[in-house]
Amino acid sequence: MNTTPCIITVAITGSLPKKKDNPAVPITVAEQIESTHEAFEAGATLVHLHVRNEDGSPSSDPARFAPLLDGIRRHCPGMITQVSTGGRSGSGRERGAMLSLKPDMGSLATGSCNFPTRVYDNPPDLVEWLASEMLHHGIKPEVEAFDLSMIFQAAQLAREGKIKGPLHVQFVMGVKNAMPVDREVFEFYVKTLQRLAPDATWTGAGIGRDQVTLARWSLELGGHCRTGFEDNVRLDRETLAPSNAALVRQVVDLCADFGRRPATPAEARRLLGLPAA
Ligand code: MG
Repeated sequence: MNTTPCIITVAITGSLPKKKDNPAVPITVAEQIESTHEAFEAGATLVHLHVRNEDGSPSSDPARFAPLLDGIRRHCPGMITQVSTGGRSGSGRERGAMLSLKPDMGSLATGSCNFPTRVYDNPPDLVEWLASEMLHHGIKPEVEAFDLSMIFQAAQLAREGKIKGPLHVQFVMGVKNAMPVDREVFEFYVKTLQRLAPDATWTGAGIGRDQVTLARWSLELGGHCRTGFEDNVRLDRETLAPSNAALVRQVVDLCADFGRRPATPAEARRLLGLPAA
């Protein structure tokens, strides 16, 4: 049995207008810091961050990221900060505008795919540019793999020394029009990553009610977990989660079923090869 401590990522806000589905989704910087702190106390050791304008629309403004990163560093000692360079909050290089703030990590999609209502557009030159900006600022990428080719692309970037290793990949399943939740494919993702990059770590992320499915599979196969309002606002099909912390506690409880326990911040940093806080 794999007993590696589990790094629990909490994706607190996202960029979709989920606020209307659940008023508990934190939007303002103050709400985000408070929600992150609660999730940290509950057992999350990595926070994935988007920022929004006061009206809830997505933003990529470094001036909004700066106080958020400061607040999290102050209130959640050792917690790993990860900014999103995903495509909703800007286009082209705008998406990396906050990397100069030197968070611990940045998300990096290494290819394009379809999303529910649009193309998630990650052309090769933008992927290379985001990777080089992260390397320049000492930021470790979390590769967002929405299909198999993105895992190969990530392994190649790592081999060429274009990203800070060891490689960390998140397998995302259940985004409409991208890769559905499929156990055999998931196992093949894990096997392929281990073959291409034996020192790599990985996380499983599922959307909606599949958040729990992916958490279970990841705990079983030795990976790490992601939860939070960005991907899901429900504890189950009927019940709105009251907070990001409640979603984190759900994963903490699942850990015991698989002989795992949540990583401490120091363990999470060591597992990802990040410097101590
Ligand atoms: Mg995101």
